[in-house]
Parts: sequence; C-alpha cells; structure tokens
Amino acid sequence: MRRFLHQPGGRLASIFAALFFVLSAVIGSYVYSACQKASADYTTLISDIVLAQQATPQLRDALEEGSRLPSSEQVEYIDYFISRSKQHLNNIKGSIERHRYLLSDVEYLNHHFSELNNRLSDLHQQAQKAQQRPELIDPLQRAAMEIGGAQSWLYNQLLDDVRAISIQQRLIMQRLSIAVSVLLVLMVSAAITLCLAVIYLHRQRNVMHQLMLTDELTGLYNRRHLVNIASAALTQAQRDHGSLSLMLLDLDHFKNINDTYGHPTGDEVLRQVSKQLRKLSRPSDTLARIGGEEFCLLMPNTNTHDALQVADRLRREIEANTLSGIDLLANPTISIGVTTCHGGSLTFEQLYSFADKALYQAKALGRNRAESLLPPAEPTPYKGPHTYAHTFIGEPMDS
Ligand code: GH3
Ligand code: MG
Ligand code: MG
Repeated sequence: MRRFLHQPGGRLASIFAALFFVLSAVIGSYVYSACQKASADYTTLISDIVLAQQATPQLRDALEEGSRLPSSEQVEYIDYFISRSKQHLNNIKGSIERHRYLLSDVEYLNHHFSELNNRLSDLHQQAQKAQQRPELIDPLQRAAMEIGGAQSWLYNQLLDDVRAISIQQRLIMQRLSIAVSVLLVLMVSAAITLCLAVIYLHRQRNVMHQLMLTDELTGLYNRRHLVNIASAALTQAQRDHGSLSLMLLDLDHFKNINDTYGHPTGDEVLRQVSKQLRKLSRPSDTLARIGGEEFCLLMPNTNTHDALQVADRLRREIEANTLSGIDLLANPTISIGVTTCHGGSLTFEQLYSFADKALYQAKALGRNRAESLLPPAEPTPYKGPHTYAHTFIGEPMDS
C-alpha cells in the first residue's frame, strides 16, 4: 500500500479517491435530507385539517340550531363542539410535530394555535357560567362565532401552506431524480477517467522503463541493462558453479561503411545486423548494443565450446545474409571474442576484459573470426575425492 502511494499514479488515484469520497458524502447527505423532505406523507395531516375545517360550520350550525333549544341544552351543545374543536386542534398540532421538515415552514402559525386553544378554553369556561346565567348565552354565541372565524382562517392558512409544500415536494422529487442521474453520470465518468489515467500512467511507466533499458537506434538492450543482468547471472553461476559465457561482437571496418555510404546507411546496417543477431540468438541469452558497432551476448549455462559454436554460427550468418534495401559491395562481417567463467568470483568488468582481449586477438588475426580467452582457474575448496580440472588458455588475469 505504501509503495502504491509513493508512485505518481498511486498518489493521484488516492487524491482522486479522497476527493470523490468527500464529494459523495456531501452529495449523499444532501440527497438523504432531500429524500426525507420529498418522501414525507402529508395525507393524514391534510385529512385532519379537512376534518377540523368541517367542525367550524358545524359549530356555527350548532349555535344557530341551539338558539331554538332551552338554554341548558344550548350550552351543552356548544360545549360538545368546543371539545370537538380542541380535539381537532390537538390532532393537527400532533401531526405537524411528526413532520420535522414542516415545522419551520408553519412556525409562524404557532401563536395562532396557542391563541385558538386559549380562546376555546375561555369559551368552555363561559359556557359553564352560562348554564347558571342565561343572560350570558348571547355573548357566548358571539364569542363562539368569532372563534369559529379565527379557526376557519387558521385551518385555511395551514391547508394552503401544506399544499404549497406538497407542490414543492414534487419539484424536489424532479430535481432529485435529475441530481441522481447527474451524480451517476459523474460517478461513471470519474471511474472511467480514473481507470484511463491509471492505464495511461502504467503505460507511460512501462515506456519510460523500456527507454531506460534499450538502445534507441537498434531497440536492443543497452549497456546499463546488460551490466545489471550480467551481475545477477554471475551471482547465479557462482552459486550453482555453472558456466557463463560472454561474447563481444564488433563489425569489421565499419568506419569504411560510414565513409563510403554515409552515416544514415551505417545506421541502417547497424539496425539490420542487430535484427539478425536478435533472430539468431537464444531467448535465454541477453543481447545488447554496448558501443557504436559493438554488441555483447551474455549466455548463461553455456561453456566455451558451445559459445564458440554459437559465435561461429552468428559470424557465418551475418557474412552470408545480404542486407535488404542497402546496396553494399560486400556483406558486413563481424569479429567475435568469447570468454567463459565457471563459478568463481569474477566481476563483470573482469569477464568483459577477457572477452575484449579475445576480440582484439580476432581482429589481429585478420577479422571475420571468433577467438576465445578464458580466465585462469581459481583454486577450489577440497570437496572429497572428486577433483575439477580447468583448462587455462591465454594470459592469466591481471590483478
Ligand atoms: P574494426 O574492424 O577495427 O572494428 O574497425 P572499425 O572501423 O569498425 O572500428 P573503428 O573503431 O575504427 O570505427 C567505428 C566506427 O563506428 C566509427 C564511428 O563513427 C562509427 N559509429 C559509432 N557509432 C555509430 C552509429 O551509431 N552510427 C553510425 N552510422 N556509425 C557509428
Ligand atoms: Mg569495428
Ligand atoms: Mg569497435
């Protein structure tokens, strides 16, 4: 995870993911509250209000009808409708409290509710008194009519507000569905962008890595990569007491090709010879261009005899194959120097110097040939009755 975060792509992806997480949390909480608002069901409240509205004309009718009744029954009649009105009022207040998103919108009606409640309580007390004192019936009727009017106004107002809020609810639903669609599109495009960015960065990294390891002109590995691979191969050969051969290949009189046909032709010769060498070498071997017209082939698990056979095959093929599109008087040739280590503790530079000396020898002996030079055998620790013979060819290693 730490390694991922330290990569440029990983850092970018984590910043993007963090931003996306915060944005999703903000939008998510907005969508949640909008959903709560939009999904509130006001039908019970509306039916409570409608029922309460109906109580007002009933109270008015009761007052008119009651005027024809004896005063005691009249008071009882009024009292019944007062208690009904109070009941409706309490139901509505209870319903409003259950809708927390409605509270702020109808807050301004709170004191009207309290006032109506108080007035109904007063009316109830007046009705009690009017039972003993019939002269109070008229003012009681007037007060009841006034309260009926206030009640009507309050419930109409409340109903209008709840209807307006219901219309808003529909609008919120519409906006919400648009927002959710936009959010979905954003999420999908963000995910696609992120994937593309990661793929692009990954490819860029591979390209950069490849450029660091390869030679621009020929596409073969460069010297740096060869040194890395050779060091690992040497360690492996030393651990396994195996053979590791190194071959240096140099185009003969390449300067003449440049001088006669020009540098672009020289470049093309280098490209085509590289291509042939790559085709002719084994996949387990590492081929690199280590200088202008100098190549190196690293061959793990290969002894000198086999390496010389390979060298001779490469030399003959290069000499025999005519290069396409280039009209040379004669095919280019190569000289090859071969060396091999058998376990031991040689460094790459030491092994390279033996191959270089062998190459120098091939050049000195007339070019277009392969020569080998082996490092001196190192003393091996005593391992029982078996002994290991090493053939020393050429000069001892410089110390
Ligand atoms: P020898 O047989 O002794 O190796 O002779 P040579 O001419 O091949 O060797 P020399 O070292 O005298 O010349 C090598 C030439 O390779 C000289 C240089 O201009 C040329 N060269 C080096 N790199 C490139 C390159 O990338 N493209 C081209 N066209 N020529 C190159
Ligand atoms: Mg040369
Ligand atoms: Mg050279």
